[in-house]
Amino acid sequence: MTSLEDNAMKIIVDTGVQGILQSDLWKKLETTSREGSRLAVRLEKTGLVKRVKELVDGRWTFRLFAKTVSTSKKESVNTLEGCPCFTCGDLARCGNLQSISPVFCAGLDHWLQRLSKSANGNSST
Ligand code: SF4
Repeated sequence: MTSLEDNAMKIIVDTGVQGILQSDLWKKLETTSREGSRLAVRLEKTGLVKRVKELVDGRWTFRLFAKTVSTSKKESVNTLEGCPCFTCGDLARCGNLQSISPVFCAGLDHWLQRLSKSANGNSST
């Protein structure tokens, strides 16, 4: 992985479940839209990133999500413990392109952030 790809992955992982628009990513990386698009495709091919088509200001673009919050080998199925979705009253109505979306769910976002800190050995917050 190049340093540009490595920096992109750090930014994408930091955005958690909200993900980041491709255009915002390449602005943060201070690269061109052409290089940014190629970078996003390369990351998707590695299997580390998922690209989801999204309409923004009348134009189609992609939002990028990290497929894993952490690459720690300590991760296991046990990390699903405490996931708010299991007890959420909105679960049946929640999904991509629905009025309730995991992309904008503060509860899920907070849980993933705690999970990420815990996996990185910082469980004090
Ligand atoms: S993402 Fe949020 S709103 Fe959707 S099911 Fe999970 S906790 Fe509920």
